[in-house]
This record gives sequence, structure tokens and C-alpha cells, in this order.
Amino acid sequence: MTISRQKITDIHYDLHSHSHCSDGQLSPSDLVQQAIQCGVTHLALTDHDTIDGVERAKQAAEGRLALIPGIEFSCTWRKRTIHILGLNIDPKAHALLKASTRLKHLRYERAEKIADKLTKAGIPNSLDGAAHYAGEGVMTRPHFAQFLVDAGYVSSISKAFSQYLANKQCADVTIVWPDISDTCHWIRQAGGQAIIAHPDKYNLTRTKLIELIRDFISFGGQGLEVISGNQCSTVTEKLSILADQHELLASKGSDFHRMDQPWQALGITANLPARCTPVWDFW
Ligand code: MN
Ligand code: MN
Ligand code: MN
Repeated sequence: MTISRQKITDIHYDLHSHSHCSDGQLSPSDLVQQAIQCGVTHLALTDHDTIDGVERAKQAAEGRLALIPGIEFSCTWRKRTIHILGLNIDPKAHALLKASTRLKHLRYERAEKIADKLTKAGIPNSLDGAAHYAGEGVMTRPHFAQFLVDAGYVSSISKAFSQYLANKQCADVTIVWPDISDTCHWIRQAGGQAIIAHPDKYNLTRTKLIELIRDFISFGGQGLEVISGNQCSTVTEKLSILADQHELLASKGSDFHRMDQPWQALGITANLPARCTPVWDFW
């Protein structure tokens, strides 16, 4: 797969990335280092449900890159799981710390249940196994997947999901995430902008996506991630029109997790279409 080099603008924003404080590969400081090498000038660290890495990323970025404190919340909208980014948040805001603690508990409880189910399926010690890959971060399903691969139970991450962890498989445990209205509220309370992450990845019809957008706005949501990773330009066009029609701010980000996933490489995103009002105009 070849990635065409995008035009690097003077101010190069990447407003969606993960460190090992959630399911990313790099430490917060290595992530910042890598982003600088990729020409990123403004980076948002948006780990899943946690702001644990923000302070370290900020220190590493000092004077070399503008680090925007962020978070990627999982939440529920009409029984579907949706991801909402909180950008330019105050990482010390009480509402955020409280929410993030609650979500860590939810994830830990899920991890324990997944491990119990795997034990029943004849795979012992997966909690310790996943904890090893999670390091200091929160245990997530990809960490279990990595354990299943390295312990020789399956030959690939995708098989770990399709045979064990995915919906309706033997170690599937669903989390009931907080309601989207609460999520938007926490982000606003922390002084940030709430943005629907990767709107094209929920398999929503156009009608449903518009319903989501309308509800989201009624809860205080302010933006759409118009560009996610190495996305095709027709999707960008479609999302930029929706953002414009609903007077939403536009964001863009790679959703970087790992060095070996070039479709989510740091800083690869194209420029936002001209009709967009970038979220950073607000800062
Ligand atoms: Mn992730
Ligand atoms: Mn996401
Ligand atoms: Mn993400």
C-alpha cells in the first residue's frame, strides 16, 4: 500500500492520536517525538477515556510542538457505541477526572469478565497476559488479542477477534457506556469542544447520521471529525458538507495507534475542504 505524501501546510494539525496510556504503542513522549519528525506542529493526544498521558506529552512537547489536551470517550447513542473526542480540554477539570475514573472501572470490570470467559474456554491467565501488554494503560480488547496471538492460541489479531473477542464470540463482553449527553456535558464542563470521531465508521445510513448529529448538537456537541486517517476524498467531501449544513466545526486527525499501520500514520491527513470552519479557529 502506498501513501501519497500530503501537502504539509505551515501549520500541520493532527488532532487524534493514542499513546500507551490507552491502546497505542508509544509512550506519550515518544509519540510527541514521532509527531515532530512527521512534520506535525499541533498534536492532540486523545487516549480512550483517559487523560493520564497528557501531562507527560505536554512536557515532551515544550517549545517544539503545540500539544492540545484531548480525550476520546466511548459513549452510547440509541444502543450504539459512538466515539466522541474532547479537544482542548482542561485536563484538571473535576468532571473529566471523575468520568475517566468511572470509565476505567468499567473497562477493568470488562477485562475481568473477558478473562473469566477465556478461562472457561480453556485459556487460563489472560488477565495477567493482557495486563502485561497494557502496561500502565487501561486493559482493552486489543491487549487480550495480542496475548492470544503471542500465547499461540490464534495466528493473528483479526483471528483473536473473530474467534474469541468479537460480538457473539465466547469472550464477548459488552460494556454499557455512558450516554452521549453525559459525555458532551463533561467535555463542555472541562472547557473543550466535543467532536464526533470518525463519523464514517459506524455504518450509519445518511438519515441515521443526521439524527445523530442533531441529537449531538442538542447536547452541546460542536464538531465533526471531517477527516480521519487516510480516508477517501468522497467521504471527506460528504462529511464536510454535513458539517457545513449543521454549522459544526471541522476537525481532522490520523487516529494514530501504531507505527505499523500506515493508514493511520501521524500527520498524514489531507487539508480540510475550504467550506469547513476548522475547530482550531475557535482556540
Ligand atoms: Mn483504539
Ligand atoms: Mn475511535
Ligand atoms: Mn481513536
